[in-house]
Amino acid sequence: MLSATNSRLARWIDRYFYVRISTKITVMYAAILFFVLILSTAILGIGAYIYFYRQAEVDLNRSIYHVMSNIESGNAAEAKFWFEGPVIPGVIVRVTDSAGRVVLDTDAHFPSIETIEAGRVTTPIWADPGMEVSDFQGGAVYHARRNIEYDGIRYQIHFLRTITTEKDFFNSLQRLLFYTVAGCFVLALLAGHFISRRILKPIREITWTARSIEVERLGRRLDIPRARDELSELARTFNRMLDRLQEGFRQEQRFVSDASHELRTPLTVILGYSDMLSRWGREDKNILDEGITAIRSEAENMQQLIEKLLFLARADQKRQAVNKEAVEFSELLADTMEKMQTVTTSHEVTLGRNDHAVVSADPVLLRQLLRIFLENSVKYTPPGGHIHAYSILSDDGKTITVTLTDNGIGIAPEHQARIFDRFYRVDSSRTKETGGSGLGLSIARWIAERHDIKIALRSAVDEGTTITLSIPTITE
Ligand code: ATP
Ligand code: MG
Repeated sequence: MLSATNSRLARWIDRYFYVRISTKITVMYAAILFFVLILSTAILGIGAYIYFYRQAEVDLNRSIYHVMSNIESGNAAEAKFWFEGPVIPGVIVRVTDSAGRVVLDTDAHFPSIETIEAGRVTTPIWADPGMEVSDFQGGAVYHARRNIEYDGIRYQIHFLRTITTEKDFFNSLQRLLFYTVAGCFVLALLAGHFISRRILKPIREITWTARSIEVERLGRRLDIPRARDELSELARTFNRMLDRLQEGFRQEQRFVSDASHELRTPLTVILGYSDMLSRWGREDKNILDEGITAIRSEAENMQQLIEKLLFLARADQKRQAVNKEAVEFSELLADTMEKMQTVTTSHEVTLGRNDHAVVSADPVLLRQLLRIFLENSVKYTPPGGHIHAYSILSDDGKTITVTLTDNGIGIAPEHQARIFDRFYRVDSSRTKETGGSGLGLSIARWIAERHDIKIALRSAVDEGTTITLSIPTITE
């Protein structure tokens, strides 16, 4: 019962709170359009209304001017003047005496002055304040008066003009505008709805595809809309993000499987030896010694491997600390080479020119970087080989270039680009003997990147390998 109420509530929320963007856009544009149409219609209507008043005023003023100037010049004294149409058609002239009697009239059928005065309304602000406005039978009448004196008698001249016809026209115009606005509004609503739906279709497709993409199916990609716009950009960005995710995911999977694989070998050896020890080790001292030595060596291998894996894991998680300080590089190189010489009896290790330079680096990591290359040289150079190092400060003093070179087995060109990849070994059967895991150079690359050190590699099979490190110095 409770869950049914809950689901009804959820449906209600969905219905009222999920509003499509297309709907929102349509409603917004329709509202704006509605406002604009209403405003323009109103302005048009009011404009037309005012214009009709103006037109009537112009007719009246011209007629007034004509009649008054003719009265002044004396022309109006002749009856001919009044019969020949003294005013513009549509304007009526009526002359009354002081008692209000009509003395002269150009349209006797026009309502009497009294009727017109009875319908008088306050003059609208857009009308000429010098004239009166009256409502008459649903229409409006403009009324202007002028006083004259003739033969000592005072007369009043009334100029009248109806604006009834214009009012009718105005009403039809308003009706027409209303229907047009309503029609346009509905049309805009429909068109807006369909157009925005169509424009936003790619977004719905993106949503559907994104929904169908799961970790197991990271290979799916969005179709890029043909038009070059924000949506195609979004789809492209989304696809690029998926590429990166997929690559990261693949790398992680490979890393885990490679790491497990690497750990399995020493474990198998350890298990094998411990079996052997439990069977014969108690009686045979030689077997006991051999077993213990082998187990220890494998365990050391495993320890080193785990150290490297932990280093890379910390690096991946950005937890590996890099504590940079000013390091006297020539001292660091000399010291590292000296230690190398002490532990290496099978090879000749020499240090040549060693320029003085101060670099900003984490000394522990910088030593580790040099050791990785030097250990490789020892590992991949047959006994009796030569390992040589030297450093040269550039002319501008900005870079110290360290060269580490050996005359070992070398690396074939096709492998050179990949040796910095994790777990990559040129010849895994050969490196098995040396205990290499293929992680050394990937750690070296990470340390180099952290210190803006550029690594260059030059190598030829059976001739040797040369590594050049360009390290930026601290220049005062
Ligand atoms: P790890 O250093 O983790 O113990 P590794 O030495 O096999 O193992 P890297 O140092 O990453 O791994 O080197 C990768 C591969 O590059 C090596 O397996 C080797 O085949 C090749 N390589 C590296 N340095 C040299 C070198 N100086 N001469 C010849 N081959 C080299
Ligand atoms: Mg190595």
